[in-house]
Amino acid sequence: MKIDPWGVSDIKDYDRLCKEFGVSSISEDLRNTLRDNKYIRRRMVFGHRDLDLFLNAALKGEEVAIMSGIKPTGVFHLGSKITAEQMIYFQRISSKAYVFYSIADLEAYADNGIPLKESSETAIINVADIITLGLDPNRAIVYKQSDALAVQDLAFIFSRDVTMSMLEAIYGKRPPGLYFSALIQAGDILVPQTKIFGGPKPVLVPVGADQDPHIRLTRDIASKHRRDFKFVEPSSVYHKLVRSLKGDYKMSKRDPYSMITLSDDLDEMVKKVMNAFTGGRATIREQKELGGEPWKCSVYELYLYHFVDDDKLVERVYEECVSGMRICGDCKKEISEIVVKFLKEHQIKREKNIDLAIRLLEKGAELVRRKPF
Ligand code: SF4
Repeated sequence: MKIDPWGVSDIKDYDRLCKEFGVSSISEDLRNTLRDNKYIRRRMVFGHRDLDLFLNAALKGEEVAIMSGIKPTGVFHLGSKITAEQMIYFQRISSKAYVFYSIADLEAYADNGIPLKESSETAIINVADIITLGLDPNRAIVYKQSDALAVQDLAFIFSRDVTMSMLEAIYGKRPPGLYFSALIQAGDILVPQTKIFGGPKPVLVPVGADQDPHIRLTRDIASKHRRDFKFVEPSSVYHKLVRSLKGDYKMSKRDPYSMITLSDDLDEMVKKVMNAFTGGRATIREQKELGGEPWKCSVYELYLYHFVDDDKLVERVYEECVSGMRICGDCKKEISEIVVKFLKEHQIKREKNIDLAIRLLEKGAELVRRKPF
């Protein structure tokens, strides 16, 4: 198992991850309570840290925050879509739940050498994507790390709490810029608890499994500052990494044919699906005799996790596949039509949300330029 928040992670066994890193798995009770969340119901979300603490406060009507972000290295893919939809889901749980969304442009510079101006343009599309997916902009603080003096101040303060050996134990040997961007992320996660935003409160961070090292570091920093800043250790909820359309355990941004993005040209996207790895048999005859293997199939995952809300349709696909009634070519055509419809509508609506995205980023920049204490 390899977990690298900046590189390629290789996680096949999520139970093992939970055991090794002290992540709690989602209990049946919790799954039932949050059944209206497709990702939790269908087990794409596999674990959490202190989700109950966040939920109890939110359901009692106390003020809570949901914090996550994106490295603006490109357009939204299905992994960014899950994170965004998780944030939106938890924002809707209470009228006192505020979303904090960080555009990690400093990290994109440290890790990928992307100039801040280029990140700035990508950020607008990313923010328009999340608004289009359903974010309530009236309860959202969206900002770029490079604008966030409050976050940078926190990162500087936190630098006293860490040693090189601690950072190496969490991240392995990395360039100093990446260690610093890890501290900036800790600042992102804890800034909702500063006086600018009303002080300490439960904060939930929905992320992919590969981001857990940042959560561990931030929880450690928060506990060290419990006495002086009264930080509550942040809660987190984890989803599995999105598998590549080629069947690998993680999609690669370097290979556009391994993933669908929310900016895909529609014909291109259909080609990607038609070339995707399936759990089908070598011949139609074998498929009819033996049935397919949907648990191996990247096309089935488009139904199960990404584009179909209706459980009955997902169950039907599964049953028809294993019983040999469903043929991969037809199956790919059906899901392509569903994805085309989604992308077409999303891209039209997103265009209309560009101005709002710019305004939200400007407003966020003003808020996070203030002193955190
Ligand atoms: Fe996958 Fe559909 Fe083929 Fe089954 S029929 S293996 S779900 S593409």
